[in-house]
Amino acid sequence: MQTKKNLWTKTTCAYCGVGCGVEAKPNAQGLLDIRGDQEHPANYGRLCSKGLALGETVTHQERLLHPMINGAQSNWDSALDYSAQQFAAVIAEHGPDAVAFYVSGQLLTEDYYTANKLMKGFIGSGNIDTNSRLCMSSTVAGHKRAFGSDSMPVCYSDIEKSDMVVICGSNLAWCHPVLFQRLKAAKQLRPELYIVVIDPRRTDTCSIADLHLAVNPGADVALFNGLLAYLYKHQLTDVDYIKNHTQGFEETLKSAQQECIDREDFMLRLGIDAGQVDVFYKKFAGTEKVLTIYSQGVNQSSQGTDKVNSIINCHLAAGRLGKEGMGPFSVTGQPNAMGGREVGGLANTLAAHMDFANRQHHALVSDFWQTDKLASKPGLKAVELFDAVYQGKIKAIWIMATNPVVSLPDSEKITAALKKCPLVVVSDCIKDTDTTRLADVLLPAQGWAEKSGTVTNSERRISRQRRILPTPGEGKPDWWIISEVAKRLGFKQAFDYMHEGQIFDEYVKMTTLDNPGGKNRALNLGGLTGLSALDYFNMKPQQWPVLKYQDKTVEQRLFADKQFFTANKKARLIAVKHQKPLSECSSAYPFSLNSGRIRDQWHTMTRTGISSRLSAHTPEPFVSVNPLDAQIAKLTKGDLVKVSSVSGSVLARLSVSSEVSRGQLFMPIHWNKSTASQANICRLIKANSDPNSGQPEFKYTPVNIKKWQYHSEAWILSRTPLVFEEFDYWVKQKVAQGYLYRIADKVTPEDLLIKLSALISLKGARKLSYAAASHSSKAVYRFADISGQKMHCAYIAAADLQEQELQWLQGLLDENIDAAVERSIISGQVEGRLACGKMICACKQVGEKTIRNAVHKQQLYSADAVGRSTKAGTGCGSCINEIEQIITECVV
Ligand code: SF4
Repeated sequence: MQTKKNLWTKTTCAYCGVGCGVEAKPNAQGLLDIRGDQEHPANYGRLCSKGLALGETVTHQERLLHPMINGAQSNWDSALDYSAQQFAAVIAEHGPDAVAFYVSGQLLTEDYYTANKLMKGFIGSGNIDTNSRLCMSSTVAGHKRAFGSDSMPVCYSDIEKSDMVVICGSNLAWCHPVLFQRLKAAKQLRPELYIVVIDPRRTDTCSIADLHLAVNPGADVALFNGLLAYLYKHQLTDVDYIKNHTQGFEETLKSAQQECIDREDFMLRLGIDAGQVDVFYKKFAGTEKVLTIYSQGVNQSSQGTDKVNSIINCHLAAGRLGKEGMGPFSVTGQPNAMGGREVGGLANTLAAHMDFANRQHHALVSDFWQTDKLASKPGLKAVELFDAVYQGKIKAIWIMATNPVVSLPDSEKITAALKKCPLVVVSDCIKDTDTTRLADVLLPAQGWAEKSGTVTNSERRISRQRRILPTPGEGKPDWWIISEVAKRLGFKQAFDYMHEGQIFDEYVKMTTLDNPGGKNRALNLGGLTGLSALDYFNMKPQQWPVLKYQDKTVEQRLFADKQFFTANKKARLIAVKHQKPLSECSSAYPFSLNSGRIRDQWHTMTRTGISSRLSAHTPEPFVSVNPLDAQIAKLTKGDLVKVSSVSGSVLARLSVSSEVSRGQLFMPIHWNKSTASQANICRLIKANSDPNSGQPEFKYTPVNIKKWQYHSEAWILSRTPLVFEEFDYWVKQKVAQGYLYRIADKVTPEDLLIKLSALISLKGARKLSYAAASHSSKAVYRFADISGQKMHCAYIAAADLQEQELQWLQGLLDENIDAAVERSIISGQVEGRLACGKMICACKQVGEKTIRNAVHKQQLYSADAVGRSTKAGTGCGSCINEIEQIITECVV
């Protein structure tokens, strides 16, 4: 909310499902100043590096500003008419199931609601699915199996109230940093708070763990089945709770016991030390307040739903649910993944937690929307949906606010599918993505700072996202674009919305249908019905169910009354059994590839990639391998490597790290065709999906790895974007005032220079040019194009640059080029302000060398002391683990 005196507007972060409250204020540069909202119960003022950099990503540089048809600028009337006519023609000729929407957890709830209403309610097909399918649909399926509804039981404050936190398949430190900071602070306050991390990789999250279980990839079901059998064997199950409030215990227990009958076989499946397993089981059994936080490592699996249920089974059997400090806790990846789940963004749900299979629900929704066209069966889930596009069964698709060409498995097939689809409409705020390149119609949507509506975070808390900046060009709210197409399809009455508050009010009413007091569905927002426009604007974060509007923070755990949303009100334990991943490693593909996020980037980098601060920490796509595996494969840190699966291959820089277990590789998910030549990991991943949820297996792909030999490489700085498509390897990084490219090629350095000079047009009055060493294998070529004190472009080329310290180049476009800088360019020797080394602290822009120097010279032995001296780690705190590692290395 905003007053004349207070120009800070309260809104919600655009990135992960923590859903942090943000305060934003326009600044003189046309961007936003950002700070954490001290009052928001998700973060109480904290923000991570991505949230803190939100203000830098609101530039208009990469924005889609106007509607486009077949590559030509158009106008709204023409683009909307054209899209509606094309959709109508396909529906008339081939029926409603020949069209589809593919939407996104980036949409606001009001946008999602409108899209779902149009597709399921009025076009009459279930074919609307969301990229949240790739994120947490296994949890949705697991919740429904266990609780009878998709209802996450716990609150964030349970983190501080628990005595043991189990983090399973989640690098919380990097993917949900503010929750991690809350947990870390709780641990500092109460060191006895016991933390277990279950992850094949030793991630930054392990820095606060008492126990790290580096289980084999996919071993979660076996591990939790073993726990259930242990609880029973030691008479530590809650007999009353099981008898009175659950069903399915006997079969589930039997299945769990069978899992570990052969102890040796069981331990082989887990791949860890038996003593560690016993410590975990004993600790879980002996601690009442246990919280199990889980994320993509559990969900993104061909057995994701079973994994979710194996965790919930243990909580149900121990009666650890519905009370403070305990319960299974799924953290969502996207800012509004939960909102999408609520309104029916998934193809297999109807709306407002009502289901296709329930006739009464179908009648309620039909009646509420006043439609006789409501889809009668679930639509296609993401992977199936794009298969149907590929097969020509779907002939018109509308993709909203997402980049499936990069994010879906088997990305080459997705590209082929969209290329041959007769109509591809994409609404987005970004102009150039791998997906917008394949669109027939582009519709400019508003960006984060321009949108108004609501989002729901991982703890079921609905927060307002508020408009802060005017929309550039002709961008429009997504709900408006959808409604305008709906009107042109003949559904004016049902989509005649004037503003997003009306849509919210309609959705809120829907949650109350045959649901007095939330008795039939936990998702009841009855307390928010009939809000005035002002009340809606000012709405404080509300955790559902909302039976009464509260102007203060209210927390509510679900299932405190031990009543579930099944027919007999009892929770279901589900018998599950460990299964191997669908594709197995072989002699041709001996490594299992794990995928995940890095600290400062988000999804396909269309927004975080705009921030030079966020791009500095990990500027190049990499693949991590265990040191022993690297040695055996004769690979060295800094090599370029080709990683191949049966589906395709990628090129990335090699990182050697004992954080990765033997036989495994790790690679981040973010790079795409706009930012790197061949680093989209989804080229490698097969579309093996969980049969219950349809969620693909992103965490286990059999691959091989080989050194990719190049003969020359270069770093190129430029104020304007350059195109390096003809080079074998290139990566683009946003830096202050321009771009930094890293390229590598099979030609000699001299031939590389010839290729480069043909691409770069010089503008400056002065050219600095220098070649060091006499023969080509050692020669280093340095060049800069300068006018006055401003650099236009520069490059450094050699046969191999891996031994060179070049981090200082990143800031040069933002520097006054004085004699000292010129000397550095010519000599390659840097000192003073340029010599900061690899960026460690993105918030305060502090490099590794600066930290090392401070540690050495000032004898600093703690991250706090380093922070006081250099400011490193005093922003969001996500880099503190790295600072501590640097201190340890310096001390050693
Ligand atoms: Fe945004 Fe970071 Fe909070 Fe996630 S943890 S919502 S990315 S500030």
